[in-house]
This record gives sequence, C-alpha cells and structure tokens, in this order.
Amino acid sequence: MLHRERFTPPPYIYPVDEWQMIEQQFAPQFLAQAETIFATANGYLGMRGNCDECEPVAERGVFINGFYESWPIVYGERAYGFAKNGQTMLNVTDSRIIRLYVDDELFSLTSAALVKYQRVLDMRAGTLTRALVWAMPSGIQVRIATCRLVSFAHRHLAAIAYDVTLLNATVPVVLSSEVRYDPVTQMREEDPRTARGFTERPLLPHFHAVTEQRVMLGHITKNSQMALVCGVDHVLATECPFSVTTSVAEDLGNVVYAVEAQPGQAISLIKYMAYHTAQNTVDHELRERVDRTLDRAKHEGFPTLLASQRRFLDEFWRRSDIRIEGDPRLQQYLRWNLFQLAQATSRAEGTGVGPRGLTGQAYDGNYFWDTEIYVLPFLTYTTPRIARNLLKFRHGMLDKARVRAQEVSQRGALFPWRTINGEEASAYYAAGTAQYHINADIMYALKKYVDATDDREFLYHEGVEMLVETARLWCDLGFYSEQRNGQFCIHGVTGPDEYNTVVDNNTYTNLMARENLRYAAAVVETVRQERPGLFAALVDKTGLQWPEIADWKRAAECMYIPYNELLDIHPQDERFLEKEPWDFANTPDDHYPLLLHYHPLVIYRRQVIKQADIVLAMFLLGHEFSPEQKRRNFDFYDPLTTGDSSLSVSIQSIIAFEIGYQEKAREYARYAALMDLADVGGNVTHGAHIASIGGTWMAVVYGVAGMRDYGGVIRFHPQLPEGITRMQFALTIRGQELEVDITTDGVRYQLRAGESLTIFHQDNELRLSLNMPVLMQFNGVVDCPCTSAV
Ligand code: BGC
Repeated sequence: MLHRERFTPPPYIYPVDEWQMIEQQFAPQFLAQAETIFATANGYLGMRGNCDECEPVAERGVFINGFYESWPIVYGERAYGFAKNGQTMLNVTDSRIIRLYVDDELFSLTSAALVKYQRVLDMRAGTLTRALVWAMPSGIQVRIATCRLVSFAHRHLAAIAYDVTLLNATVPVVLSSEVRYDPVTQMREEDPRTARGFTERPLLPHFHAVTEQRVMLGHITKNSQMALVCGVDHVLATECPFSVTTSVAEDLGNVVYAVEAQPGQAISLIKYMAYHTAQNTVDHELRERVDRTLDRAKHEGFPTLLASQRRFLDEFWRRSDIRIEGDPRLQQYLRWNLFQLAQATSRAEGTGVGPRGLTGQAYDGNYFWDTEIYVLPFLTYTTPRIARNLLKFRHGMLDKARVRAQEVSQRGALFPWRTINGEEASAYYAAGTAQYHINADIMYALKKYVDATDDREFLYHEGVEMLVETARLWCDLGFYSEQRNGQFCIHGVTGPDEYNTVVDNNTYTNLMARENLRYAAAVVETVRQERPGLFAALVDKTGLQWPEIADWKRAAECMYIPYNELLDIHPQDERFLEKEPWDFANTPDDHYPLLLHYHPLVIYRRQVIKQADIVLAMFLLGHEFSPEQKRRNFDFYDPLTTGDSSLSVSIQSIIAFEIGYQEKAREYARYAALMDLADVGGNVTHGAHIASIGGTWMAVVYGVAGMRDYGGVIRFHPQLPEGITRMQFALTIRGQELEVDITTDGVRYQLRAGESLTIFHQDNELRLSLNMPVLMQFNGVVDCPCTSAV
C-alpha cells in the first residue's frame, strides 16, 4: 500500500505528447522538479535542466559519472571493520551559462515578461529546446531560441545553440558566455538519502587558459586525486557587427560578445562544452583531449551533432521502445522513463550507474544493487553490450571486494553495498554493509545476462572468477545449524527490506545465495570440462581447490529456507513473524517515509516493510514458489509494505499481475511509471529514480506481458490492461530480435532479426523463424494459418 501521491504534473504545464515533454509556461513553483524532468545526459556527462542563464535555479548540477571525492567517515563510535571513507559524485564545473543583456538589461526568467514560452525535452531528437519572446518594459521585443544537447555520439561533449533576435529595435546585445566552478560547501540535510555536502571545496583549481574564444578550467580533487578539465569554445554567426573579449581566472572563464544588434537580424551563438577526467593524469594530456573534442565538434558543426544525436536515438528506440495505443498520456510517461535509461547508461563506460543516474546527487551518486536487479534486465534484453560493460565494471572491483571480505573476517569476496571506486562506502552497517545479498544479486544478473546472450567468453573469463569468490563467501558466511537439523543457515544479514536489519535467515538472501552457489558450481564444472586451459588459469588466479565445489553444492542442498506451516507463508526472516505489527491505522500520512520520522529501532522491532523482499524473491526466483504460495505471501506482505523505497512498487506490480490482482497491479505499475513525473516519493528534486525507472520497464515486460526467463527459457503470459488497445516491444535474445505485439485480438510474436528462436506462449512452445509471425490468442489457441507453433 502506498500512502502518498504528492504532485501530478498539471496538464496545462505538461500537455500530452508521445515524444516530448513540453513545458508550456514557465512555472517557478515546479522549478526544482522540472530540473530533474528536463535533465539531459549520456551516461557519462549529465546536466540538470537548469536554464542557460543560470538563474532562477533550485539545484544547479553538472555531473560526471565516476568523478568523485572521497572523505573520511566520522563515526561517533568506531568499531572494527567499519567502512573508512565515503565517496561523493561531485557537482562539477558548469559550462552552460550564457547571460544575455539587451540594451544593458539582464534577461532573467524570474522577472522577464514573457509573451511566449515553451520548453521541450524531445526524446527522439535528444535535445532540450526553449523558445520564448521577452517583452521589455521599454517596448523592445526579443526572440530567444535555445537548444541544448549532451551528445550520445561524443561521450565528452555537450553543446548549446543560443539564438537571439531583436524584433523591433536597434540596441546593443551582449552575450556573456561563462564556464565556472562554484564551490558548493553546504552540509547534508537531515534526510540520509541526500548527498553529503563539503565544509571545504572538494575541487581545487589547477590551471586555467584562454586561446581565442576557447577557455579551459582545470581542477583536481583533494583526496581522490582526480583531475578534471572543462573547456568551452564558441562560434558566433551574425550579420551584425560585434566584438569579443575574454578573461579567465581560477574558477571562472568568460567570453563576451558585444553585438550591435539590428531588428530581424539573428545572432546565433554556438557553444561547445567538453569534459575530460582522469586519475592522476598530467594536465597537458587532459588539455589535449579537451582540445581534440572541441576541435572535432567545431569542425563538424551543430547540425551534424544534431544529426548524430538523432541517429543514436533512432537506434535506441528501435531496440528499446514500448509502443502503446489507447493511452497517449501513458505512452508519454513510458517514453520518458525509457529515455532516462538511455540517459543514465548509454555512455557509462568503465563506471556503474548511480541511483539517480546523472540527474542528481542523492545517495552521493554511489552505485548500489539498483544496477544489477533493476537496470540490467532492461539492458540485457535491449542493449546487451552495455549490460556486459556494467558487469565487467563489477569484475574490475573484485580485488577490492576480496579485501573487503577479509576485513569482515570472511573468505572470498564481498562486493560493497554502496561505492563509486569499489571500496565499501556505507557508513551505516545495519542497512548497508549487512546487505550481503549484493553478492548474489550481481551473480543473478550475470546469469540472466549469459542466459540471454550466450556470452560464454565473458562467463568463462570474468564471470567465473566472480562466481568462485562469491560462492566462497556464502559457504564461509553460513553454517550448518544443529538447531535446524544441520541445515545451512545464514545469520546476521540484512535483506532488501531495510526496515528489518541484521536478521537471521532472510529468506530472500538464502534463496539468492543458493542460486549463487549452484550457478558457481555448475559453471566451474563446465569450464573444467570444456576449457581446461581457462580452468587452470582460474585455479591460478583464485587458488581454487576442487573439493570446494562439493562444499558449495552441499551448502546449496542444505540451505535453510524458512517456512511457517501455520500461516502457510515464507517468513521474511527467522523472527519476522514474532514482531509486533506496525500500527498503520495511527500513522499519519505525512509520517511516510517512516525513516524520516522514527528512530530506526522503532521501525526495526516491528512488522513493517520498506520495500519488496519476499515479493522480490517470488519474482526473481518465481520457480521456487508454488502459485498458492505466491498468493498467500503476497496477501500477507503487501499490506505491510510501505513502499518507502522507490524500488518496491514495480516488483509488487509484477507479482500482482501474475497472481491475477489486476487492479492492484495496474495501480503499482502506474506508481512506478509516475515515480518522478508525479513525484510519488516526494523527492524528484534530488534526481530521477533510475531503479524505479528500470522497474517500470520490468512492470511492462514481466508484468503486463508476463515474461519469465528462468534458466534462459523465455515464456510469456500476456494480458492487456483495460484502456490499452495495443502494446508492442522488442527484446534482443541471443543476438536475435523478437517483437511482441499484444492487441485485444491476441499476441503476435515475430522474429525480426535472426534465424530461429524458441519461446513459449503460456504452455505452448513456439518455434519462430525470421519474419514468420505467429499469432496466439490469450487462451493459448493458435490463430494463424502460417503457424509454426508446435
Ligand atoms: C533502498 C535501497 C536502494 C537505495 C538506492 C534505498 O532507499 O532501500 O534498496 O539500493 O535506496 O536506490
């Protein structure tokens, strides 16, 4: 159950449009939300939807994935093995600013009288455009048209086209283009989900330079020793006479164009912005890289950038779109969600994906299990190359995970609950480090990726090494309990639900650990048989002893899975059912999320749930539960689940669809799709909830279309929610492209690339051949003369 729905975008501000988010009037009351909704990013570089003129602003933000400062965690009371350093993705140099002066008056959205105003996030073009007419008190009318993009094709590049035309006057126009770093030093708010602030500036000036209309600022972080060079260059096109002056200092570069503007004569400023970062790299190397990016951009020109942006997104939508008929508003919401996935992941090369992508600094931009459980399903089935990169990034932190396991007195490897650089950054062990399930989540995502792609090379090189070390950890962490007739128990962990911490035998964790152990044993055995050379290398790297595999198998076989015979449900953990129920009836609506209103202990000792836990296990490992168990578990846990984490509703929706609770399923799916657009969580100002966004894709594919992919077997149980007449999407499976088209008449499966693919519609096996569609009715009957159903 959910207790909040705070802000629904007023239709007069964001009208229905299937491909665009349109802001029809400047709405200062939604400034902060709109900065998230209109953010532009490419997975490497992200810019909040702040206006080019810099003000008004709620939270100015430019972020680079993986660019962080570390800081010593200060504990009131220290204990052995606590994480030492936190890491925060930084708000970096802002290169976007263009201030406009007409007849010496500064243009500001706050005070300007606007005759026209429109801002558009175009999700096909990948641009944020704005068109307005400013009526000055003196009677002068000024037309301003801007277009901003963060390039998908050029990872390090963003650009702005800023056009000004005086409609009825001959007065001076000044365009002052800036690149500036504002040291942000405010400290963290009470809300633990927001980013930590800094008492001292985290970025120190390193160098600055100006050549013609090109300005560069170089900065370096104090502790993490990461270098950043941001450079801007300009091209001004106009028939009017103009002069240019430049200046640069440590934190501020300026290129000022003074134009003798004429009525009807356009003044077009193109600003190219490049960012390059590196660990301990010398200045000149980074500067050269910035120079090269800017040279290339100037050479290609803005129209070419627009064209490459469009090409990139055409391909993205071809692979990843969900098209629906019957509800254009929902179509718009879905596309916005999908577009956020493109913006958060497309060029995330050698990094992870933060919980708000590159739209905000919530949770310090740290990487969590959000990536593997919520974002990877989408990537695995639409752009497997990126899924692979993200898994490879995890593999890259394996050594640090080995060290972390030692720090907590364990064998194998323990992946950090939250991190940017691979080291555990969670200062609160109860709801942080104790979430050992992260190990199994990553291995689960690996298995899904391999099942869907058949990428044996990745599995046998990187994957298997992670499997060995994670299996080792589980084997070492758990024990055979005499109290439980020798079953394998895992104590002192936190499951996905952060309102029940440091518990024994969290069912989700035990089930996922079992999956991890089994998969590790199976893959190691296969590698030994099929690739003895690689096996030898694996033994060399990990010190693997053959009897370990038998240990893993035995732990998996003996894994204790809590079950309560009396209630016929799976307890969330050993003691969950013994707890006092939470008094929902007397909890005011404004006391959610509970974590902001109650001491953790008040929450921990009661039966109340932050986010899907057992319900998530029933989705990820649905084959381990009978249909009756699913229904009973859902009936028991759903009323206890507050949805205080945005990661919950999509999963509740999927299971509700499966067990036939249509209305609930639709409602949860709607919450997921609107998490940011209607600010369901009340904190969209801090950025877009990327896990919920990935969950929205899952609510469609696994919820509405009822896809299940256990063991790589693809099965659909589709339905069509009321009000929708058609839903189409595509999946990439082992290099082939399957299109699923659900209409009121039935479901059409078509292989649109590839040779042959076997899938199931309910219990019917379908062998699909290229461009030979098969139409199935909802009751499973084949409805196509050219059928290849078997
Ligand atoms: C959730 C976690 C999640 C984190 C980052 C928390 O509120 O409980 O499951 O990983 O947010 O999104």
